[in-house]
Amino acid sequence: MNKVLIIGGGISGLTVAYWLQKNGLDVTLFEKDMRPGGSIRTEKEEGYLIECGPNSTLDIYKEVDDLCNELGIINEKIFTNSGTKNRYVIRDGRLRPLPTGPFQFLTTDLWSIKGKIRLFGEPFVSKYSGTSDESIADFVRRRAGQEFLDYAIDPFVTGVFAGDPTRLSIKSCFPKMYSLEKEYGSLVKGAMFGRKKKEGPKRKMRLVSFRDGLQTIPDTISKALGDRFIKGCSITSVKRTGDEFEVTSEKNRVSMTFRANKVVIATPAWVTANIIHPISELAASYLMDIEYIPVAIIFTGFKKTSIKRNLDGFGFLIPSKETKLRGYNLLGSIWSSAIYQGRAPEDMVAFTNMIGGARNTEILEYKDPELIDMTLKDLKNILNIEDKPEFIRIIRQPRAIPQYTLGHQERINTIKRELLDIRGLYLAGNYINGVSVGHCIAEATKLAKKISTGN
Ligand SMILES: Cc1cc2nc3c(=O)[nH]c(=O)nc-3n(C[C@H](O)[C@H](O)[C@H](O)COP(=O)(O)OP(=O)(O)OC[C@H]3O[C@@H](n4cnc5c(N)ncnc54)[C@H](O)[C@@H]3O)c2cc1C
Repeated sequence: MNKVLIIGGGISGLTVAYWLQKNGLDVTLFEKDMRPGGSIRTEKEEGYLIECGPNSTLDIYKEVDDLCNELGIINEKIFTNSGTKNRYVIRDGRLRPLPTGPFQFLTTDLWSIKGKIRLFGEPFVSKYSGTSDESIADFVRRRAGQEFLDYAIDPFVTGVFAGDPTRLSIKSCFPKMYSLEKEYGSLVKGAMFGRKKKEGPKRKMRLVSFRDGLQTIPDTISKALGDRFIKGCSITSVKRTGDEFEVTSEKNRVSMTFRANKVVIATPAWVTANIIHPISELAASYLMDIEYIPVAIIFTGFKKTSIKRNLDGFGFLIPSKETKLRGYNLLGSIWSSAIYQGRAPEDMVAFTNMIGGARNTEILEYKDPELIDMTLKDLKNILNIEDKPEFIRIIRQPRAIPQYTLGHQERINTIKRELLDIRGLYLAGNYINGVSVGHCIAEATKLAKKISTGN
C-alpha cells in the first residue's frame, strides 16, 4: 500500500494533495466543511465580491505561479490598479501615506524630525546581546525608535497578524528582519548589501488576487482532485498501528476508519492537537498553546457619491497608539473596489473593514448593530462619510490568525522533535512557518516534494 491521507482542505492541505497526486501518489483529502479553501472564502452577493478571509497575497512566490500555471489559472491573476499605490496610516486622526522612496521619507509627516533622526541612527545600534526571544516591539524600538514602531511596524503587524507587537516574536514573525540584524548588524545595511548579494530576477513587491477572488485556487484544486477530495468529513484521530496509520473520521455522525502509510495533517493547531493526541500528548499540548485571535469583517458598500476623497490607495491601517488616543475600533480598511476590478456594482464602492484582533479579543460577542455602529463611526471620522452604506455583510472569524508569540520557534521545534521518529507523519499549515497564502503554498509545495522523493 502507498496511500497518503491529507487532513484539512485549506490552501496548505490542497496544495500538498495536488502536487502529490500529480507525482503519481494515491491521495485522499478529508475536509470538514462542504467547500474547499478554509480561511480563503470568496462570496458573491448583490454584485459585490466579498473576501471573507484573505483579500490578496504578495506576488513574490515562484511556487504560487508554478501552481497557477499547472492549474491553468495564471491568466485569472489580477493586480492592484495602478492608481492605488498608497498605503495609508492614521496619525493624529488623519490619513498619511507611508513613504515609498527616500524623497518621500524626508518629506513625510508620518514621523517627526526627531523620529527620522532616530531612524538614521539605526546602522549604529549594536546587535541584540540577549538570549531570550525578543518581541517585535522591543526589537524595533531598540533599533529604530518608538515612533517607527508606533507608525510603521505596529500597523504593519496589524495588517499581517492582527496581533500585538509586544507579544509577538520577531524571529518567528519576521525572520528576514531578524536575520538582517544577525548577519549585517543593521536593517539598513542589510537591506543595502543584501540586495546586492541577491541573485536571479528581482520580483516586484505587488499584491495579487484573481478575477473571481482568491477562492479560484481552492476551487480549481478541488476540481482537479475530483473524488479524491472528500468534503463534509471531519477527522477525529490518527493512531499508529505497526507501519500504518489508522485515521478515524466522522461524517453525518457515522464513524469510519481508513488506513494509510503516510498522513499529512493540515488543520489549525488546536485541531491538529486533538487529532494527534493518541500519538503524542506532549506535541498535542504544545500545539494547544498556539494562540489564535478573532477578527470580524464588516464589508460595506457605499454609493460612489457618498465618498468625498480620492481612493488612491490600498486602504488604511490604524496604529494601536491612535486607537488608545482616539478610541478607534477598526484595525483598518481595505478599499476593495478601488484596488481590484469587479469588486462592487457600477456606481458603488466596497470597503473591507476589519475589527477585533489582539486589540479586542471580545469582538465576536458584539451584536451586529454594535459592529456596524463602531465601523461607521470610524469611517465617518477618518473618511468623512456621512451617508449610510447601501450594503453590509458581517463575517465573524473566531480563530482567524495564529499568533507567533514569544517562544513560538521553540514550540514548533519541540513539536517537530516529538514527531520526528514517526515515519510518514507530516504537519502543514499556517501556524508553522508563515501565515500568508503565498507562504502556505510555498511551504506546502516543499512538503509535497519531500514526501514524493521520500526524504
Ligand atoms: C480574516 C483573514 C484575513 C486574512 N488576510 C490575509 C491576506 O490578506 N493575505 C494573506 O496572504 N493571508 C491572509 N490571511 C491568512 C491566510 O488566509 C491563512 O493563513 C491561510 O489561508 C491558511 O491556510 P491553511 O490551509 O494553512 O489553514 P486553513 O485555511 O485554516 O485550513 C484548514 C482546513 O482544515 C479544515 N479542518 C478543520 N478541522 C478539520 C477536521 N477535524 N477534519 C478535516 N478537516 C478539518 C478546515 O475546515 C480548513 O478547511 C487571512 C486570514 C484571515 C482569517
